[in-house]
Amino acid sequence: MFENLSDRLGGVFDRLTKQGALSEEDVAAAMREVRVALLEADVSLPVARSFVKSVTAKATGSAVTKSITPGQQVVKIVHDELIKVLQGEGEPDALRIDNPPAPILMVGLQGSGKTTTTAKLAKRLKDREKKRVLLASLDTNRPAAMEQLAILGQQIGVDTLPIVPGENAVQIAKRAKQQATLGGYDVYMLDTAGRLHIDEVLMDEVQAVRDVANPRETLLVVDGLTGQDAVNVATEFDGKVGISGVVLTRMDGDGRGGAALSMRAVTGKPIRFVGLGEKMDALEAFDAQRVAGRILG
Ligand code: GDP
Repeated sequence: MFENLSDRLGGVFDRLTKQGALSEEDVAAAMREVRVALLEADVSLPVARSFVKSVTAKATGSAVTKSITPGQQVVKIVHDELIKVLQGEGEPDALRIDNPPAPILMVGLQGSGKTTTTAKLAKRLKDREKKRVLLASLDTNRPAAMEQLAILGQQIGVDTLPIVPGENAVQIAKRAKQQATLGGYDVYMLDTAGRLHIDEVLMDEVQAVRDVANPRETLLVVDGLTGQDAVNVATEFDGKVGISGVVLTRMDGDGRGGAALSMRAVTGKPIRFVGLGEKMDALEAFDAQRVAGRILG
C-alpha cells in the first residue's frame, strides 16, 4: 500500500533535500507537487488542502529555511503532519473489550470483506490477547454467509453460535449474548448482514441489533480500494448507527491509500486495522507512525 504516493513524494523530497538553501518559493513549489500527489492518491480535496496549508505554515518560517538542513526539516514536518492526519491528536485507545462478555458489532456493505475480517479479528484476539471469542452471523438473508463464518470459525479454532433456521437478526443477537454469558466468553462478535448499497432496510436492522447488543465497539469494514467512496460509506454508517472505528480491507492491492489518509480527518473515527490479504493472519493493527514511515520511504 501507498507505493504510488511514496514514489511521488520521494521524488519531490529528494530534490528538496539536495538543495542547500531553500526559499519560501521552493517550499511552495514542493507543496504544490505534494498536493497533486495526494489528490492522485484519491485523498479528499479538503484534506489535501488543509494538509498542505498546515505544512506550508510550519515550513516557511525562518527556523526552517535558514537552518543547515532545510529540506530534511520539511520532510520531518510532513512526516509529523501525516501522523496527525492518519490518527488525529493523541495516542489511539485500545479496543474496549473489558467487562466480559464484550459485544463487538461488525457492520459494512456486502463484499467489503466483513465476514473474513470478523474471523481474522477473532483469531487475533484469541492468539494475542488470549480471549475466548464467540462468533455469530446475523446474515439471515444469505445462508451461505452464515455457513462461511461457521467454516472460518472451525478453521481458526473459535466457536460459532449454532445456526437456528427461521430466527431474525435481533433474535440471534439475543441468543449470542445469552450464550456468551452462560459460556463464559470474553468477547462475542456479531457479523451483521451486508447489502450492496446503504438502504433503509440495512440501517434499520443494524440499529435494531445495536439496540439489543449495546456494543462496546462497532467496527465498520470498508473496502480500501474504493478510496473516497470508502470514506463516504463510513460517514453514512456513522450518521445512522454510530461507529467506533474502521477496518480498511484490501490494502494489499492499494497502491494509492487515499481512503486511509482521508478517513480520520473526514469522519473523526480511527482506523483500527487494515486487511492485507485473504489469509486469516493478514490483519494488521493500524499504526500511523509506521504508515507515515512507509509513505516517506
Ligand atoms: P463480506 O460479504 O463483506 O462478508 O465479504 P467476505 O468476507 O466474504 O470477503 C469477500 C472477498 O474479499 C473474499 O474473497 C475475501 O477473501 C476477500 N478479502 C477480504 N479481506 C481482504 C483483504 O484484506 N485483502 C484481500 N486481497 N482480499 C480480502
